[in-house]
Amino acid sequence: MSVTPTAPPPPADRRGLLIILSSPSGAGKSTLSRRLRAWDDSIRFSISATTRPPRPGEADGVDYHFVTRAAFEGQVAMGDMLEHAEVFGNLYGSPRAPVETAIDSGCDILFDVDWQGGQQIKESPLSAQVVSIFLLPPSMAELEARLRARGQDSDAVIRDRMRKSRDEISHWAEYDYVLVNDDLEACEARLRSILSAERLRRLRQPYLAGHVQRLNVEFEDRALT
Ligand code: ADP
Ligand code: 5GP
Repeated sequence: MSVTPTAPPPPADRRGLLIILSSPSGAGKSTLSRRLRAWDDSIRFSISATTRPPRPGEADGVDYHFVTRAAFEGQVAMGDMLEHAEVFGNLYGSPRAPVETAIDSGCDILFDVDWQGGQQIKESPLSAQVVSIFLLPPSMAELEARLRARGQDSDAVIRDRMRKSRDEISHWAEYDYVLVNDDLEACEARLRSILSAERLRRLRQPYLAGHVQRLNVEFEDRALT
């Protein structure tokens, strides 16, 4: 009896990754997240809840879920947040349900969270699926220039973000990967390489055990003929 070798199923037969992207504000998280999603539209984006007011151009349910402090605290009390933290005086958190739906259907989900959020996700029961990436600016002068070029914040807010960037950067060594976002194209290419390799880790390809079993059956079948 001959056994027809079966090709491994498509890579979707795996649990998705939780991709954590952190950096000081202005280093390029949103820009690179958008580019990653344009590269692979199966990557979901974790839409955070926040108590901060929307900036001009931001839409509820797209950029953030804009909620009151009472509503936010209610969700935390119900255990509906995978992680949450106070950043720049506002509460931010990642709703748990969309994350579980995404990874159970084999989709990777990307988080733009600060170091506190990254730490909590890494300590959660989903830690085996986590890939954490920290972005550094090429220089502090360039970070400030990017915050100004973005044109979304007042001088006072920019000064505050620059002051807090030192604290965020101090957590760089807690991440799996650290990239200097100098040239945008080059940084995007490095991010794609990280994701491509992480998706191929043995433990993230559960169908491999079945494939090897089929190879062994075929081997024994051929040895007998
Ligand atoms: P974050 O989400 O980390 O706060 P953004 O993605 O909003 O940062 O980037 C801040 C500004 O810097 C934006 O105007 C963006 O276009 C610009 N930017 C991002 N990456 C680069 C880069 N590699 N080179 C030049 N400008 C960049
Ligand atoms: P911004 O107000 O500029 O959109 O975000 C400010 C900071 O909050 C950024 O460092 C961003 O990564 C972080 N942040 C956004 N969403 C979340 C979240 O859900 N959880 C945590 N911990 N941080 C978040």
